[in-house]
Amino acid sequence: MPTIAFIGLGNMGNPMAANLVRAGHAVQGFDLVPDNLAKARESGVTVMANAAAAVKGAEVVVTMLPAGKHVISVYEDIAPKVAEGALLIDSSTIDIDSARKAHAIAARRGLPSIDAPVSGGTGGATAGTLTFMAGGSAEAFAKAEPILQPMAGRIVHCGEAGAGQAAKICNNMILGISMIGVAEAFVLAEKIGLSHQALFDVASTSSGQCWSMTTYCPVPGPVPTSPANRDYKPGFAAALMLKDLKLAQEAAQASGVATPLGAQASQLYALFSGLGHGDMDFSGIIRMLRGDIG
Ligand code: NAD
Repeated sequence: MPTIAFIGLGNMGNPMAANLVRAGHAVQGFDLVPDNLAKARESGVTVMANAAAAVKGAEVVVTMLPAGKHVISVYEDIAPKVAEGALLIDSSTIDIDSARKAHAIAARRGLPSIDAPVSGGTGGATAGTLTFMAGGSAEAFAKAEPILQPMAGRIVHCGEAGAGQAAKICNNMILGISMIGVAEAFVLAEKIGLSHQALFDVASTSSGQCWSMTTYCPVPGPVPTSPANRDYKPGFAAALMLKDLKLAQEAAQASGVATPLGAQASQLYALFSGLGHGDMDFSGIIRMLRGDIG
């Protein structure tokens, strides 16, 4: 079993690394936050003093970091230090330009690399059921697939370098828009005398059906596992949704594509985050739409 370096052991990285340990890999982890390191140690990750120490002797490096600048800085740090031929997998959600830069840093040392952002949130990370969307060469993807398997429900090769990030921002633009649509429908239902359960029973099995309704319902009750049932504790924080919507808008502007609903969703999540609710689950936007919170 290849030894894996795992850099970025936050809300997602920690449970993902734990699943690699469970699958039988030796995992050498690093994060800047001591509490995250302590948690990783409990899952059987060998905690290292820095990123360079974590990649020493590793055949695969997985990064799960906040944004493009963190990924580039870690890649510049580790690329000269990793073993010959080591595979670099970046699962962070980052802008396409940074993803391509990360591939270029790897290529300069002749290292195979893929961008492999995920969908499925902390629940999917814990359960090992994430959807991975991968960008990179067919050879790099073939090497990455068995490594991703213990963390994945589904793995899709989307195309060349950056294609994984492209798929991720398109998917999350759909998600941001659909969550607002579902939330607006519940708020309207409340005002016109329709119960949450009645709207759910109809819309979850008819043409209004979507993931924001059936799996992540923004009102408490119909889907007991959704964050609405735990006072909108994330889950997937509104600030992260805003980050992904902004990435989609940057890509749309750079390529001259009109995405008016994506732009509107981005503005609404910017307002919600600006009001101090960035750390609330993104489905909590229903509270702002209802006028419960300002
Ligand atoms: P997080 O903030 O919990 O974790 C990121 C970790 O990276 C932090 O623990 C931080 O200390 C660490 N870090 C930052 N710079 C570092 C460095 N130089 N060296 C080592 N560690 C460093 O975020 P998260 O929720 O785990 O998300 C990680 C990525 O996954 C983000 O790009 C996010 O957009 C994406 N994502 C998150 C979710 C989700 O539901 N949370 C879902 C899909 C994708």
